[in-house]
Amino acid sequence: MLNYFDTPILEIRDELTEKSGVNVFVKREDLNHPVVSGNKWWKLKYNLEEARKLGYETLLTFGGAFSNHIYATAAAAKETGFKSIGIIRGEKILPLNATLSFAEQCGMKLHFISREEYRLKKETHFINQLKKLFGKFYLVPEGGSNLLAVKGCCEFAKEKLLPIDFDYLCLPVGTGGTMAGIICGLEGKRKVIGFSVLKDGGFLAEEVKNFASDFSGREFSNGSIETNYHFGGYAKSSPELDQFISQMKKENNLPLDFVYTGKMMVGFFDFMKKGFFEKGSRVLVLHTGGLH
Ligand SMILES: *Cc1c(COP(=O)(O)O)cnc(C)c1O
Repeated sequence: MLNYFDTPILEIRDELTEKSGVNVFVKREDLNHPVVSGNKWWKLKYNLEEARKLGYETLLTFGGAFSNHIYATAAAAKETGFKSIGIIRGEKILPLNATLSFAEQCGMKLHFISREEYRLKKETHFINQLKKLFGKFYLVPEGGSNLLAVKGCCEFAKEKLLPIDFDYLCLPVGTGGTMAGIICGLEGKRKVIGFSVLKDGGFLAEEVKNFASDFSGREFSNGSIETNYHFGGYAKSSPELDQFISQMKKENNLPLDFVYTGKMMVGFFDFMKKGFFEKGSRVLVLHTGGLH
């Protein structure tokens, strides 16, 4: 079992929140664990249990060179006594960046493959090749999103979010697994707004819907995906985004990353500015982690 630390909620008050009459709270789920942080903790929880139950000794997963999921899986494997293998998209560049060198320090075996090969990551034939190469392993998909990840995020929402009084939840979305689990856990209550960190993220609405109905057998209509705050695409940044992040740090003591939570927060502030939220409404912003 992974250690879990209970996380605080902070209130943000500034000119904009005052003017728009919106009560803004941040659930600092990024503080739930020093290295397996935020949503990744909940996405891995039941995958680790399942791997153990089935008698596996090794976890294998996929990700890019800056993947929080690779980072978290390597750390979780170390903490819970699994070996781990990371299949990394693209060429090996030395020295390894901070994410990959941390993963390697946790004992993760890194295996670099071309972008073309990486596209085969879901194909049986390719996975069988990996089995020949590495022996038996428990496979966690890219980004960690499978139904056990949805289960973990559902539990998170039920236990940690549902008891909080709020009308809207905002969170960043990469694959949609986290948002789907949260929607299931909230059982159709509250409005959930996911901010896509991918360019052309419109397809994520369908992903979230599919994950949620595969997991719960139900259809929920209280979620929506916003696609205008991707800043050029996954892991792309801009001077405005950087500036916003350092301002949030300075004025609200709130650390954000540029891949996920920074983009979501820009989107949320823009919504507030445009008068999207009714006066007196309560918005919970979910800090999903992502800072190491
Ligand atoms: C991985 C990650 C996400 C995206 O979660 P999905 O379940 O893939 O949508 C959001 N925020 C942070 C900080 C992440 O590391």
